Amino acid sequence: MTNYFRSNVNAMASYVPGEQPQRGTQIIKLNSNENPYPPSPAALAVLQNIDSEWLRRYPEPSGGEFREAASKVLGVPSDWIIVGNGSDELLSVIIRACAEPGKKVVYPMPTYVLYRTLAEMQAAEIVEIPYSDDYNLPVEKMIAANGSVTFIVSPNSPSGHVVAANDLQKLASELSGVLVIDEAYVDFTEDNALALVKEYENVIVIRTLSKGYSLAGLRLGFGVANPKLLQGLFKVKDSYNIDAIACAIGTAAISDQVYKNACVAKIKASRTKLATDLKQLGFHIWDSQSNFLLAQPPQRNAEYFYQELKKAGILIRYFKQPGLDDKLRITIGTDEQNQALVEALIYLLETR
Ligand SMILES: *Cc1c(COP(=O)(O)O)cnc(C)c1O
Repeated sequence: MTNYFRSNVNAMASYVPGEQPQRGTQIIKLNSNENPYPPSPAALAVLQNIDSEWLRRYPEPSGGEFREAASKVLGVPSDWIIVGNGSDELLSVIIRACAEPGKKVVYPMPTYVLYRTLAEMQAAEIVEIPYSDDYNLPVEKMIAANGSVTFIVSPNSPSGHVVAANDLQKLASELSGVLVIDEAYVDFTEDNALALVKEYENVIVIRTLSKGYSLAGLRLGFGVANPKLLQGLFKVKDSYNIDAIACAIGTAAISDQVYKNACVAKIKASRTKLATDLKQLGFHIWDSQSNFLLAQPPQRNAEYFYQELKKAGILIRYFKQPGLDDKLRITIGTDEQNQALVEALIYLLETR
């Protein structure tokens, strides 16, 4: 076949997202860290009342309505906010705006797998620095690596730990490149890094409506940064990256903090219960500040459990990579879903 692609695209592996079964499949889905509860009734009400004019006309290019609502909730000016078609789009915009061949993209390992794919697309040099066994951030090595872009997820996936505030502060003050703090799971913890954005113009905090707000199918995320940093990102993003319906639904969802907080409280309580149950079965569980648990089976046969649970109609996440191939990442579901998981595990532990 004729080779149509740039050499770095030829060389790169495809990103493998979590399995997304067809709509209607009877399955307990605990593999993509979705929220088990429906979106806010206020968000669903917007859907019932869509005006055909919204569809006929192009949307407002910056997602202004959503920026205003997010500005109120976060206490930052609306021109410090950039809206994306999911936060994944913003990660891609940052890479396209700031990384290039000969420059480095730096992140600790293990973390969100997409960063590697994005850096490979841009043909940037990739520097992966391992976390310590107890997930302490290798701050000095990350500073020494001198990335044009440095990514940190906090709370991290798949470990669930929050990165220490003084580590983030140190990175922000000593890196000359952009520091991206991906807070996809911030709704499930008490800590956040927004204060750093006000202090350091090289920091961007990335958030999403996919997890805390139960809107993974909508595709809406946002970034918070000094307008000096956002200016370059606005040049790179598609003009109409936020569709009119997503913008209106997202605006209603983020304005309904009471509903989101109630869902989060239920998930946190279920997280505690599931962690206790899994520990009782002999699993090692890392302390999680997010809506999933990293779990190591007593015999470390993680792939076996992943496969057998899948046969039983329960999907969880298994990463076949060094440091993770003896562990499982399990999204916190409803108490009923978690109970079904625990019962399936008891059966597998007994019959193995
Ligand atoms: C889920 C997730 C995202 C993607 O969020 P979208 O807004 O759905 O694109 C980004 N970063 C991390 C670390 C995630 O876990």
